[in-house]
Amino acid sequence: MKFDILTLFPAMFDGPLTESILKRAAEKGLIEVKLHNIRDFAFDRHSVTDDYPYGGGAGMVMKVEPLAACIEHAKVGSPRARVILTTPRGRSFNHAVAEELAREEALIIICGRYEGVDERVRELFVDDEISIGDFVLTGGEMAAMVLVDAVSRFVPGVLGSDESAVNDSFADGLLEYPQYTRPAEFRGLGVPSVLLSGNHQEIAKWRRRQSLGRTAASRPDLLKDAHLSASDREYLEELQRVAGSDG
Ligand code: SAM
Repeated sequence: MKFDILTLFPAMFDGPLTESILKRAAEKGLIEVKLHNIRDFAFDRHSVTDDYPYGGGAGMVMKVEPLAACIEHAKVGSPRARVILTTPRGRSFNHAVAEELAREEALIIICGRYEGVDERVRELFVDDEISIGDFVLTGGEMAAMVLVDAVSRFVPGVLGSDESAVNDSFADGLLEYPQYTRPAEFRGLGVPSVLLSGNHQEIAKWRRRQSLGRTAASRPDLLKDAHLSASDREYLEELQRVAGSDG
């Protein structure tokens, strides 16, 4: 899978792309990340990439011409790429969107700065607008890193074990159960005995119930779209009854 990232600050990507899983994935040729410096596509001799907003107001706006030239350049190498604009106005990024984007052959990701990009960039080139949350970042670079990281996890072979992605939080619409590793006791806190029992059926049941309980407590909104069995529903009702009788 190929990612073309269009940015005014390519050096920001050095760390995240050159460590750990993404580094290995790139070395194995499973992902390719190409950084394009938008400033290289500025027309004038001062390499200006932003200008005052028409109509007045605070801040600067990224100019359309350098971005258009940069996108067209990226498209030569990635002609079938989906062009994504990072913006707080976009659709919310989540597990399902990451999985959807991983099915693309290539993504061109535009990192905005200042007050954002001239609207004509969106009109002429953008296929998809994505927000990583209801807050405002200083620029799209960190949003692009989040996209590359979360999407890459769905590229076959990127994760060590295929199972990791299957059991992760959100994979079946629920948050993940608690994880433990050695030692069996730390500062008086033990590991739940079922995990030491070797009884795989009981372990699976405990994990499922933990997932249900955590999701109900922290993200009850997820439950309406989660894949729930009859016994899951019974357990959730039981949790509600207990909470009701406690309160
Ligand atoms: N004036 C813009 C607004 O109110 O929507 C905010 C611009 S922000 C300071 C600069 C750039 O950061 C944006 O163009 C976008 O690329 C990126 N950005 C900021 N918040 C983001 C978010 N929540 N998700 C994705 N990108 C974001």
